[in-house]
Formats: sequence, C-alpha cells, structure tokens
Amino acid sequence: MNAQPKTPATFDIQRIRADFPVLSRTVHDGKPLVYFDNANTSQKPVSVIEAVNRHYRETNANVARAVHQLGEESTAAYEGARDKLARFINATSRNELILTSGTTQSINLVAYSYALPQLKPGDAILTTVMEHHANIVPWQLVAARSGAKVKAAPIDQRGELIVEQFVAMLTPEVKLACVAHVSNVLGTVNPVREIARECKKRGIPLLVDGSQAVPHRPVDVQALGCDFYALTGHKMLAPTGTGALWAKREHLEAMPPFFGGGEMIREVGFNGTTFAPPPHKFEAGTPNIAGFVGLGAAIDYYESIGFDAIHAQEQDLLHYATERLREIPGVRLFGEAREKEAVISFLLEGAQATDLATLLDLQGVAVRSGHHCAHPLMQFFNVPATLRVSLAFYNTREEIDVFIAALLKVRKLLM
Ligand code: PMP
Repeated sequence: MNAQPKTPATFDIQRIRADFPVLSRTVHDGKPLVYFDNANTSQKPVSVIEAVNRHYRETNANVARAVHQLGEESTAAYEGARDKLARFINATSRNELILTSGTTQSINLVAYSYALPQLKPGDAILTTVMEHHANIVPWQLVAARSGAKVKAAPIDQRGELIVEQFVAMLTPEVKLACVAHVSNVLGTVNPVREIARECKKRGIPLLVDGSQAVPHRPVDVQALGCDFYALTGHKMLAPTGTGALWAKREHLEAMPPFFGGGEMIREVGFNGTTFAPPPHKFEAGTPNIAGFVGLGAAIDYYESIGFDAIHAQEQDLLHYATERLREIPGVRLFGEAREKEAVISFLLEGAQATDLATLLDLQGVAVRSGHHCAHPLMQFFNVPATLRVSLAFYNTREEIDVFIAALLKVRKLLM
C-alpha cells in the first residue's frame, strides 16, 4: 500500500458528517448506523438532496424542448451539470461527455454502438479477471452476436493485474481493451496510464470503468490517455440513475446512435433521418434531469472539500481498518495491492459471509456480502463470496472500532 498521507488539520469530520443526514440515524432498535457499504452506493449530502428538492419545487420542466422560462432554467441546470462533470474529469470538451444512467449504460453504449458494428469472427475483446460484471457481460453479448471472443488478463494473489501478461495479450485480433480503474472488490488501483500507453502503441482503444475511482481520486481522462471512461453518479454522492461516458470525439463521431427517439435527431423523415451531433446523438428521450442537478451539487461538494483531504482521510481509514482486521485470528484478507482505495474484502474462518453480514447488521454495521458482481474474481480466489467493507471520507476510526468490536462479538457467537 502507499505511504500514508496525513489528513489535513482543516478537515472537520464532525461538520462533514453533519452534512449527511442519514449518518445520524439509528437501525435495529437504536443502534447508531455505521455505513460501510459505500462502494455499493454512497450517502448523499444535504446540498445534493436540497438541489433535487429545489429543482422539483421551483424549476421542473423538460429540457431542450420548451422556450418558456422553466424549460430554459431546467436546460441550463442539466447542461450546467455536464459542464461541471466535464471539468471534474478534465474532458477536452463538454461535447465528449454523454450523460447516461450509470456505468452499466455507458459500457453497453460502447458495446453496441462502438464495438458490435466492427467486430468480426476471430476478433477479441480483452478485459481482466477483476472486472465487475458490467465490464464483462456486455462484451460477451456483443461477442456472441459477432463471433468475437472475450479474453481475460490474469491477476496475482495480491490482487494486482499482471501488467506484462495483459500487455502480452494485446495481440492484433484485440479490437478493444477494457479495465477497471479501481476494483470494486479489492480496491486495487490499476496502472491505467501505463496500460493506455501500451494499448496506444498497438492501436487498440482502451475503455476504463471508473465507477470506483471517480468518488475517491482526481481523474483526468486526458492524462490517463484512454479512449472511453465510464462512471456512475450514485457512488459519488449524486442520485441514482446518473452517470456518464466520456469518449474521444473521433469515436463519438464514427459511432452510430444506440437509442433512437426524441432529442437525438437533426431531421426525421421516412426517406431518412439525420442525427444531432454528439453528445445529444446518444441521449434519446427525457433524461434524469433532477438527478443531474444533484450530480452538479455533488461535484460542488467534492470541490468544497478537495481530493487531498478526501484521499488522506480515506487512506488513513483504510490503513487503520486493515491493521485492526489483521489482529483478528482467522481473518483472511483479499486484495493487498500496493496501491489501493479504501475497500477491504475479507472472510472469517469457519463463518459464512452472509451470516456475518446479517449479524453485523443487527449491531448497526452495514457491510456487503456476496460475489460483488465479480464471479470470475471469486473463482480466482476459489471462494463463493466475501465480506466487503468500503469506506468513504465521512467515515471515522471510531466507526471502525465499533465494527471491529461487533466482528469480535459475532466471531465468539459463531465459534
Ligand atoms: N463497475 C464497477 C467497478 C462497479 O463497482 C459498479 C457498481 N457496483 C458498476 C460497474 C456498475 O455501476 P452501475 O450499477 O451504477 O451501473
């Protein structure tokens, strides 16, 4: 793991926690909630909740269709969120950012609009063993239709991608490479810049699944050097049903639309229809306007704290929780990459992951158990499931102490 950065003295955790109303609730007869399921979905600050609320109270109208004041305000708010997100990930242009319902839709858009039209029998898509199903199944679906195949690059026991093997698998039949920026199960940060350089040398486009990266670290899609970057809003303080696909202009211009309908056309006729330029070519129908207003507020919130402070706090929690877990006999950790985000997967000898998660929940501690939509990774470690603690900057060392005490109690019950 990285050397541990220090949380700045200006980081006022109590003020930050007060911004997240749900963190002060209790569960199961008065147990204070300890929310450690942030990789699944993050909690939302009051500024996001109020932005959505205010949108429906004061502004609600459809975008791009109305000339009345509410329509104009709504359009400005929706397009304003695109501007903020484009700046947030350093996209070269707002027109390269397609607003979607989340990473799943973003990846499917690339699968059906970019990959499928050009895949031929014998072609391949290269991904890795540590991917979320959202970065595996869409490729399998388009491979099945085209006669292409999906290959997966291996990882090592630490949970790191074996980069030399990934590079060796970038053979001429590979038409697209797809990797997670950060693993949702192991927290491993993949060396995306290096991977992008190797892909570029061979003329192979690279898609990065950024769902678990954007909430925790500054992302600069230009510096990464990838071709496509998919992200999800609900893991980064924003409402569910929001997300984006950033792609290089040359790809977006060549790609045919995926969904057809209103708002994505220039002119429709029964002798032929022409399409709006990107990004609107890929945004048929009414989008999740209020959700994106919330996403804009979420970005403002991130910027008000800053990633230096966020990263320092999360790395401190990661190190502390890892050390405390290591002290417990029978704990097996999965994923000890040298560079990690604050995600810890583990099992306790002699106990089922689901039983543990249920018993922890009864004590107020919300963690996730299961395969985490990563069957191939579970197969690699030869386990059906793990328990996953995923931390956010609004969590505390005291909450980790509560979790460890609860785990020790549960361990006693089960042993
Ligand atoms: N990729 C990764 C790495 C994820 O963690 C997730 C969500 N668990 C997804 C893709 C899918 O994101 P969504 O469900 O928001 O589309």
